[in-house]
Amino acid sequence: MTSSPRRDEIAANVRQVRERIAAAASGAGRSPEAITLVVVTKTFPADDIRLLHELGVRDIGENRHQEAAEKAAQLRDLKLTWHFVGQVQSNKAAAIAAYADVVHSVDSARVAKRLGAAARRHQRELAALVQVNLDSGGTAPGRGGVPPDAVAELARTVAGSPGLLLRGLMAVAPQDEPAADAFTRLADIWRTVRDEHPAADLLSAGMSGDFGDAIRAGATHVRVGSAVLGSRPPLR
Ligand SMILES: *Cc1c(COP(=O)(O)O)cnc(C)c1O
Repeated sequence: MTSSPRRDEIAANVRQVRERIAAAASGAGRSPEAITLVVVTKTFPADDIRLLHELGVRDIGENRHQEAAEKAAQLRDLKLTWHFVGQVQSNKAAAIAAYADVVHSVDSARVAKRLGAAARRHQRELAALVQVNLDSGGTAPGRGGVPPDAVAELARTVAGSPGLLLRGLMAVAPQDEPAADAFTRLADIWRTVRDEHPAADLLSAGMSGDFGDAIRAGATHVRVGSAVLGSRPPLR
């Protein structure tokens, strides 16, 4: 483990984010161990993921299939849990099921069926989260997720899809409302889903700017990119 400026930078950021997670957790009367840090590595090189692995990070998030597949192939020698957090195009679902361990962004029955069928072909079982669209106006195009009133039905579809395990919900906070309010609504939806599906015990919420709010609302998985790796190029 040789020191390098990049390694030192990432190490300091990981330490700081972990401290902030622990502070938010204990402030909410929760155990920090109940929260998994998923570092979202999109646009950053595989070498950064090796550094993260050296620093004890095991959960890696990516949002684009092509990039995720390449990195997963390059890093096959590491024991990592791959989280797919981006919109799943249904023609990419089968390929995503080959390397992803957790898909956070299931937002249609069609995607669920394709992911499940492919997972079975690969003799794997894929953890699946239903993505909830929390935008107050309903569906904001391009951001993904199903509106709150469609969550129960999609959750049943996922739970009934062989090859998939319904493990919970995911959401991104909308921009036109305090994140804490949106995450409180999300937690309410999650509670009703868990009543029906006890295994749906994961709540993926919170990014660099709002993971404290998400933890206070009950998030079990926070997806943090720029606070660990630095800012990404604005247009990608
Ligand atoms: C990029 C991304 C993140 C991380 O965002 P940061 O603001 O860099 O922490 C989290 N979730 C999803 C779905 C993303 O696409």
